[in-house]
Amino acid sequence: MAASGALPPLPAYTLQPLEPLIPSLPDKYLTVILPILAYWSLSMVFHVIDVYDLFPQYRLHTPAEVLKRNHVTRWEVVRDVVIQQVIQTIVGLAIAWNEDEAMTGKDDHNVAIWALRLRLAQQYVPSTLALFGLDSIRLASDVMDRAPVLAGLLAGGQYPWLAQVVNDNVVPRFAVWEMIVAKSIYWVGIPALQFGFAIFIVDTWQYFLHRAMHMNKWLYTTFHSRHHRLYVPYAYGALYNHPFEGFLLDTLGTGMAYMVSGMTPRQSMWFFSCSTFKTVDDHCGYALPWDPLQHITSNNAGYHDVHHQSWGIKTNFSQPFFTFWDRLLGTVWTGGDVSARYERARLAAQKKVDNDAAASITGSMPSDSANALSNSPYDVPEVVISGAMPTAPAGKAARQAASSREQVLSSGSAGGIPALAEETAEEQAERIRLRRSPRKASAKTNEASPAPLKGLRDRVNSGASSFHGRTGSMLGYDGR
Ligand SMILES: [Zn+2]
Ligand SMILES: [Zn+2]
Repeated sequence: MAASGALPPLPAYTLQPLEPLIPSLPDKYLTVILPILAYWSLSMVFHVIDVYDLFPQYRLHTPAEVLKRNHVTRWEVVRDVVIQQVIQTIVGLAIAWNEDEAMTGKDDHNVAIWALRLRLAQQYVPSTLALFGLDSIRLASDVMDRAPVLAGLLAGGQYPWLAQVVNDNVVPRFAVWEMIVAKSIYWVGIPALQFGFAIFIVDTWQYFLHRAMHMNKWLYTTFHSRHHRLYVPYAYGALYNHPFEGFLLDTLGTGMAYMVSGMTPRQSMWFFSCSTFKTVDDHCGYALPWDPLQHITSNNAGYHDVHHQSWGIKTNFSQPFFTFWDRLLGTVWTGGDVSARYERARLAAQKKVDNDAAASITGSMPSDSANALSNSPYDVPEVVISGAMPTAPAGKAARQAASSREQVLSSGSAGGIPALAEETAEEQAERIRLRRSPRKASAKTNEASPAPLKGLRDRVNSGASSFHGRTGSMLGYDGR
């Protein structure tokens, strides 16, 4: 029998090179390929949902808005994302080449180190229990017959009966519970802490740099305004950035989080891919009830979409995982219900599409006749939308909206004066119409309650035919 109080020995180990996950493809290449695969595969899922209008009821914006409100073409978006991914790949490979070759064979030894720490920590059990007036040694002898493992724990980690044979010698061994706890710490607890820490680093890095990009006019106009050409974000626009910003915020942020958190290259594959999924999802343009990525944290497509609107651009800076920095530092959008603002943008974009379509039919630019031609599920009855016009929110939200619009004004590339002037003119026109028509004024009174707004949203969203179907029917009209 092993001597009482002797510690179990740590198992010997031999290191050998870690076999790549995919034979003949070194892990360092897989590490840089996976986030790109993650980006485009999830983006394509959302692109198909978007193009075939599979879930109109969950859209944050209508197809007309995608067409009319963005200040950049899809081709330019793809081009700049690819540029960013080339830079990201070069940086990723540079990091991988500077790292030692990944080895394996030490896991059992590392688990045993945790078991040993656990065993050593148990020596403080008697003195800790004594603080509560308990005599743990006597308790140990009381339970020895019925629960010897518990007795060993109470006695301060004394398990003299636990033995094993190593190299023909009888030596102490760890209790089963010690090994289970040690494995849980090594395989679950530590990786979870590393992921949590890496997420904190990325969120912190992105929040402060992103916020600086909005607070400093030069930074905004030179770099970040490019991302804000997308007033109606879509999935693969997530990494549509100025290349320097993409490098600084995304590539450097996640690369640093990986290194600081001490992840293994294998863990980094998960981390980089998860970060990519999250940022794509945050730009997907849909509030999906069944998308787990949108419910794990309060940062999701709906939250970030506010940041892409002209009135919310100076709010909701947090990206991509959590929103705690916005909440702690008071930069979260405080204007409450944004339905009215969204409805106005929908109506304005729909009118433009209708006018374009009517012009292509008649060769002129009529306004009212266009509405008669349309049977889109996204059409909003004017009498309803008039009452849903946004009114200036009080206090902080008013300041947030004003300072957001000021930012849009100052940036040519994200729309600048024309974009805002257009938007403001649309709003004013609606307000004037509202004031002139007593019937609409009563509609306004009714619309002040949330129920009709919900009705409006339902109506906007409930149509089964797609935008493409609608175009087809308009062409059909054209042919008659
Ligand atoms: Zn921004
Ligand atoms: Zn964005």
